[in-house]
Amino acid sequence: MTAQILDGLKIREQIFAELKEEIARLAAQGIRPGLAAVLAGENPASQLYVKSKITACQELGLASWRHTPSANSSTEYVLQLVHDLNRDDNVDGILVQLPLPKQIDAKRVLEAVAPAKDVDGFHPVSMGMLVSNRPGLVACTPAGCMEMLWRYKIPIEGANAVVLGRSDIVGKPMALLLLHANATVTICHSKTRDLPEVVRRADIVVAAMGKAGFVQADWIRPGASVIDVGTNKVTDGAEAEKLLKNFPQRLEKFRAKGNVLVGDVHPDGLFTAGALSPVPGGVGPLTIAMLMSNTVKAARLRRGKSSVVAGK
Ligand code: NAP
Repeated sequence: MTAQILDGLKIREQIFAELKEEIARLAAQGIRPGLAAVLAGENPASQLYVKSKITACQELGLASWRHTPSANSSTEYVLQLVHDLNRDDNVDGILVQLPLPKQIDAKRVLEAVAPAKDVDGFHPVSMGMLVSNRPGLVACTPAGCMEMLWRYKIPIEGANAVVLGRSDIVGKPMALLLLHANATVTICHSKTRDLPEVVRRADIVVAAMGKAGFVQADWIRPGASVIDVGTNKVTDGAEAEKLLKNFPQRLEKFRAKGNVLVGDVHPDGLFTAGALSPVPGGVGPLTIAMLMSNTVKAARLRRGKSSVVAGK
């Protein structure tokens, strides 16, 4: 038996279709939600991420702007840009692409974003709203994981959920979202004792550690639902051979390309889990979908409009 695949591309399509409806309704009221991206410096991965985010805006008909302060910009310069975007009424969402060049104080910049436009959900006010379970803008990756669980009708209430990782952008908000959905949540980190035993008790496992293939197949309770957030590029031949020994086609691709993307869950998890989000094609596509969703939500919340989508 292999696990049911939790298909992130399919869910992204559903979310985009719902957003298009909502964007059309807002357009009828003269509102066009808009996202401003701040991309400081020339990090190629960041350039690619921002490009995908702007392309998603264009696909949905959202307004978008790309601001590109140079790699040697000061904190003050970027802060001024953020203040200007805070004041610009056409801008509903502000996205500061991380990492920022090292001379820029990232914490000050992120905290300067107006909470009402904090579509990444990183601001302490957004985090506080989440802790107290009030409506607000939630970090995109964990919000995407919840969409995956809901849309595949994976029971959450009363389930034992184990979150591996406690970062501010994935692990912590994920644990809070599961808690608010009435799961019994355990948060694990690098100091957790006897991790395999803790994971074996889980009905739902969310892995967000950044360690390729770390969660072994026999740690997963047969039938458990596994959301794999990890995105790790493996370039070492011996490591790839070990991880993908039961996946000859992926191994062939690795041999041709010299790298492969692997999650935090060992690929063999497919043979023990009941449901599993693949890497790539699982959580990844949902992060941008939720950024788009947050931009539309921010546009509504700022204007006091309710959603056409149930539960939003
Ligand atoms: P992070 O800030 O590096 O946090 C990693 C967490 O994992 C930390 O809390 C760390 O514990 C924990 N950890 C590390 N080694 C561990 C071990 N041996 N046992 C148990 N816990 C361990 O990473 P992040 O930003 O949350 O990202 C996590 C992963 O998700 C990365 O692979 C990243 O690329 C991926 N990601 C994917 C998306 C997407 O869109 N698909 C978005 C965001 C992130 P300590 O706190 O004790 O150090």
